Amino acid sequence: MKTHLSRCGHAIPLFLLNFALGVFPGQARASELPSRYIRITTHPLVKAIRSKPRILLTVVTHNEQASNVGCAPLYESTRAGEAALKANRQNTIAFAEMLKTHGAKYQLQTDYTYFDAMQALEARYPSIAASTTGGVSLFPYLEATHETGISIDPHNHATASINIADVNDRLKSVGLPESGVVGGFLAYPAARADWAQYGTPVAPLTAPATSTFQAKVLWGGASPNHTCDPNASGVWKPKDEANFQTHDSTAHLPVIGTGRNVKVLDYLDADPSDIDNRPGVEKLLAALDTGSLDPNLIYTAALFLDQCTLTSTEIGTLDTYLTSTIDPRVAAGDIVWAGFSEILKRWSVVYAEVPNIYDPVACP
Ligand SMILES: [Zn+2]
Repeated sequence: MKTHLSRCGHAIPLFLLNFALGVFPGQARASELPSRYIRITTHPLVKAIRSKPRILLTVVTHNEQASNVGCAPLYESTRAGEAALKANRQNTIAFAEMLKTHGAKYQLQTDYTYFDAMQALEARYPSIAASTTGGVSLFPYLEATHETGISIDPHNHATASINIADVNDRLKSVGLPESGVVGGFLAYPAARADWAQYGTPVAPLTAPATSTFQAKVLWGGASPNHTCDPNASGVWKPKDEANFQTHDSTAHLPVIGTGRNVKVLDYLDADPSDIDNRPGVEKLLAALDTGSLDPNLIYTAALFLDQCTLTSTEIGTLDTYLTSTIDPRVAAGDIVWAGFSEILKRWSVVYAEVPNIYDPVACP
């Protein structure tokens, strides 16, 4: 089977397929594959992936600005505030290390306040980084030591002087690669939706004018006070503010559905029978088990946590949950850990950008 790019509607470069399937040099020989360019609908590796439904799962954390009650204590200019931020620094490292033991993929989404406070702490007390991260600042340390296991994304609630390009500029200033992820935005109500601006490059408000931000993907659509968050699972390109849960193949930006953006620790700490707090991945697993997921469509879910209030107890709680509930389903091929860049590649390569807006909420 030999095909030519010009005659294949869905022809793809082989390296992209290898990336998406996790096949790297040494695991598959090029001579075993049919052609430099292959049709995704016929390649056996793609067929193998689409032989059953799979849930692409990501761990996501947010930190917030000082108005957030959980984060405020970390930003106090006191000895207690410094101690709290230092402790959170260690907990964040321990959290990432724990996730690594499960093979989890982690999107750490940060606001400017946390970034600035951490930079100030590390500058004031060089011994903190010297004794824990080889003298390297927290975020570059995590990025370097976890490679494809972690992505550090800008998260922002716009202020008079800070927008997402300013947050992105801060991440670039410490050597982090640009993820192009919009880590949180307003989707509902339509009159408050703030994501259309990301369809074109965003100019910063404070950072150098050359430091524009170009979004590649949206994640974490919300509503004020989370009264009606668009909790669909899947990937699609929202049509416009009034039609967020409608796919438009000509639209610019894809969104990765949260699959139900509850805080997983609220669920694990509360009465397990409280099904209202059940994370989306469990809802999807239940649907998979009853045969109601389509193997030809993409499904996404996230395990979401607050970074500022992470404790060693919570890290242990999530560790236990991953061991008992998630790891066996990863081993069975029902769940695949995937970061957002990998999800986008899979959507393109394996699922041919066929949209899935699974189980959308109906907002007034
Ligand atoms: Zn936020």
